[in-house]
Amino acid sequence: PRPKHNMQGLVIKNTGSWYTVKTDDGCIVESKIKGNFRLKGIRSTSPVAVGDRVQLVNNQDGTAFIAEIEDRKNYIIRKSSNLSKQSHILAANLDVALLVVTVNHPQTSTTFIDRFLASAEAYRIPVVLVFNKTDLLNEDEMRYQQMVMNLYETVGYHCLAISAETGAGVDDVRALLKGRISLLSGNSGVGKSTLINKLLPTANLKTAEISYAHNAGMHTTTFSEMLELPEGGWVIDTPGIKGFGTFDIEPTELSSYFKEIFEFSKGCRFNNCTHTHEPGCAVLQALNDHYIAQSRYQSYLNMLEDKDEGKYREAY
Ligand code: GDP
Ligand code: ZN
Repeated sequence: PRPKHNMQGLVIKNTGSWYTVKTDDGCIVESKIKGNFRLKGIRSTSPVAVGDRVQLVNNQDGTAFIAEIEDRKNYIIRKSSNLSKQSHILAANLDVALLVVTVNHPQTSTTFIDRFLASAEAYRIPVVLVFNKTDLLNEDEMRYQQMVMNLYETVGYHCLAISAETGAGVDDVRALLKGRISLLSGNSGVGKSTLINKLLPTANLKTAEISYAHNAGMHTTTFSEMLELPEGGWVIDTPGIKGFGTFDIEPTELSSYFKEIFEFSKGCRFNNCTHTHEPGCAVLQALNDHYIAQSRYQSYLNMLEDKDEGKYREAY
């Protein structure tokens, strides 16, 4: 259909110079931003991102200008470099991040999971843990997986067990993603591409990645895209977004990104308690009483120590 004059839509692709917008009435419109377009408070090499809801003003030739960006509920950014203050918005308005993990082949560490969860909390993005490759697990590994799933369910994260290879449980993933904007994350080799191919039988992911990753004139860092699911909804498919990159938080803030530690910390005697040595620390008490898992507390300490060394905390 031919686009109407003023339209609203969703940014589904960003090549660095053009934004592809799917309008609410189903048109695909190639759009640009005006030269001096700046988003309040954010200095970015690319102020518009996939997932942004925008208002378009039509040009005569079928392209459009982005006139306005709706307020975002969240967004993920990456610093362009350590030297410049510029940052790059990778995606906006994420409804959920799926963290694909595997108990074996390869094993995802709980440290990695906890770092990812903490950074997702900082970005206010809900996470669902997807345990993949269940078809490969022996009985012991099955039991271990159940234990890990119980741990994270207790903390407050929904967990799914699937096999992207056999298709077991993939319907649960479909139901979860329907009508939402989602990010698929996880270490390399856990089965993200296999899962996406299962969800989008028409997508040939590998081919797509190669065609833009090796396009010489194009900075891969500014390229991002969302793939539309047959059931409705979008999966962000951007090379390099596996986690949330680096972020910097105060030691006293960190505990608020560990759901259960945060709950117990409300009972600490000091409100700037770091939960490491302080008298009257309700977190240490809860740890001692086994209400907080050792592995979670250890991950908390690891992230706390990163800060002491003056490093950025890394999501993974
Ligand atoms: P990615 O790096 O996360 O995108 O991982 P891939 O999707 O490329 O998968 C890595 C390897 O694991 C490939 O050889 C897949 O065929 C295999 N794989 C992915 N999911 C499963 C699964 O559920 N079961 C089994 N047995 N193999 C899987
Ligand atoms: Zn404390």
